[in-house]
Amino acid sequence: GRSGPPRTAPAPTPGSSTLEAGGLDALPVTALRGVGPRVAERLDRLGIRTVQDLLFHLPLRYEDRTRVVPIGSLRIGDAALVEGEVELTELGRGRRRALLCRIGDDTGSLTLRFFHFNARQQETLRRGRRLRCFGEVRAGPVTTEMIHPEYRIAGDADEEPEEDRLTPVYPTTGGLHQLRLRALTAQALAHLAEPPCAAAPSAGLVEWLPEEVRRRFRLPSLPAAVRYVHRPPRKASLAELAEGRHPAQRRLAFEELLAHHLSLRRLRERVRRRPAPVLQGPGRLTAALRARLPFVLTAAQERVFAEIRHDLALGVPMLRLMQGDVGSGKTVVAALTCLEAVEAGWQAALMAPTELLAEQHFQNFQGWLGPLGVPVGRLTGRRRGAGRTACLGALREGTIPVAVGTHALFQDEVDFARLGLVIIDEQHRFGVHQRLALHEKGRRDGLHPHQLIMTATPIPRTLAMTAYADLDNSVIDELPPGRMPVRTVVVPDTRRDEVIERVRNACGAGRQTYWVCTLIEESDALQCRAAADTAAALSEALPDLRIGLVHGRLKNRDKVRIMGTFQNGDLDLLVATTVIEVGVDVPNAGLMIIENAERLGLAQLHQLRGRVGRGRRESSCVLLYHGTLSEIARQRLAALRETHDGFEIARRDLDLRGPGEVLGTRQAGALQFHIADLARDRDLLPAVEQAATLLLERHPGHVAPLIRRWLGKGARYAQV
Ligand code: ADP
Ligand code: MG
Repeated sequence: GRSGPPRTAPAPTPGSSTLEAGGLDALPVTALRGVGPRVAERLDRLGIRTVQDLLFHLPLRYEDRTRVVPIGSLRIGDAALVEGEVELTELGRGRRRALLCRIGDDTGSLTLRFFHFNARQQETLRRGRRLRCFGEVRAGPVTTEMIHPEYRIAGDADEEPEEDRLTPVYPTTGGLHQLRLRALTAQALAHLAEPPCAAAPSAGLVEWLPEEVRRRFRLPSLPAAVRYVHRPPRKASLAELAEGRHPAQRRLAFEELLAHHLSLRRLRERVRRRPAPVLQGPGRLTAALRARLPFVLTAAQERVFAEIRHDLALGVPMLRLMQGDVGSGKTVVAALTCLEAVEAGWQAALMAPTELLAEQHFQNFQGWLGPLGVPVGRLTGRRRGAGRTACLGALREGTIPVAVGTHALFQDEVDFARLGLVIIDEQHRFGVHQRLALHEKGRRDGLHPHQLIMTATPIPRTLAMTAYADLDNSVIDELPPGRMPVRTVVVPDTRRDEVIERVRNACGAGRQTYWVCTLIEESDALQCRAAADTAAALSEALPDLRIGLVHGRLKNRDKVRIMGTFQNGDLDLLVATTVIEVGVDVPNAGLMIIENAERLGLAQLHQLRGRVGRGRRESSCVLLYHGTLSEIARQRLAALRETHDGFEIARRDLDLRGPGEVLGTRQAGALQFHIADLARDRDLLPAVEQAATLLLERHPGHVAPLIRRWLGKGARYAQV
């Protein structure tokens, strides 16, 4: 979805000396003819307060009333202007009373259908009259039809000119008609054309993209772009406009993307100006952990860890994103990173998005760090009582150097003696703000902690460049050796019995199995119910198996216990909701059944499937679907069957569903654009990145006004 339009700050008072004073961003809509309090209030609902806002309120689509189309050439779905002679007008029979008026020209005929009409209208539409109509063409029972078209009588010799420009159709709100919006934008465009005068030296829209940038990236000027999108000439391509591919539209999207990108870059610059502890030691602890690991790091893990170590030694806060496909081994790199902090005498905190994951990380970390004499603390929201109090005390005194937990780690009463490193296993749930809040949290003696963000799912580069422009990017682009791709099949749920047989065989052969219930219903309660029902049914069908059940409504303690039992191999089959989606690591699990797979997004399916195939033996995944597959669901499941590369899957997901879904809603909240569309405009992003660099270096004075224009005065990222 799209966000509301950018919130422009209230107009500065006259005489204020901002650069833009006198520009259209300072001119309230009430300065336009016909805008009284009522209209102003409705415009406000659309986020339009100034004339500049109005100019950035772009048409949703366009109608072509510039030429009369032969009736015979109409296609269903077109909105078109036609002219014809009334051949017949009659009351239609059928369930709904309607007035039907058939008109024709030399090429064909068309029925106009009116459900609301009166006697006078019947009289107007009499045989022999010439009508000019505009409407959307639909299939009708006899001929093609227009339902309630706009129409007027066109006399025989009527040579009245058609419109000379395409007609914009704006997003609007109750009580504000298209005609009104068109009239207002016409006035605003007239303001745009006014030459600057002494009273308002920078009247119009201030062009913040220097000539140099516009030339290099072949962008039209701002006034030209704005004029074009509001009133495209008749020769403009409707198809190009509909796709948002016209250079004028792209120029505006470019500017908006640039503003967002700049705001993140500026934020990054700000953080990087602060001092951070130098976390550099002889590497005794990391060497000890490596020696105890039953595997050696992959080349990619080594490279990423080297990038991290380089950052930690610099004395400015690390801001790094660690990406890697499911199962690429991010956790152990995180553990090594923590040891770097510990060896340098600082504390490290690892934050996971769910309790289940926090618990698993805690177990892993304890297993890895405990034997090295590095105590690990655990802090989750539900942990209460003496254990919690002791843990809090130890963190405050610094006797526990590593803490693992959920966001509970960053509540007010949690105090670290010397927090030098924060790692967020993000799963796309934390936005820019939270990242920055953590920065403040860890501040000690003027020193800011280092930050490492781990994403659970790979993010296409273009998206990462936008959503994480404040971070450096490291990619673990290699899986540990010996991993076999998970054999994936797509099966209708009418063949459930066969699938149950398959579970019996897999478990019989000593491979553990997940059965994931995802539900049609949104409700958590219903989802848990369904999982319980499924578990009961499977217990009946598979009496010899040890079956467990986890879902979101269980007490955390029980969830953790059941997961532990499965992990130890004391359960054969785990029936679960998507609580196990991320991070759960049981290498012996070799089969996963996912119910209602057609309902899930690609990234989520990939993430779920990543729970199997973590050992050296071949694993399988059965995607069960219900009913008939829609085209998009078919493509999604096929993509999953064909590829195991998380980056490729993320790219396809971006194509199929757009960035909001790929990033997760929370994160995407920080990525809502007024004009730009990340899926459509992502090819602009490399240029946006270059333009940002150029602007920061050569035209730093343009940066703040650009951010203000598109992100509002209290620019979301700029507050920190
Ligand atoms: P993810 O990147 O999905 O978080 P994990 O960190 O959970 O992946 O690692 C997946 C599994 O691979 C774990 O069991 C982990 O111990 C194991 N692993 C990590 N690195 C290696 C490696 N270099 N060689 C073999 N196994 C590894
Ligand atoms: Mg993980």
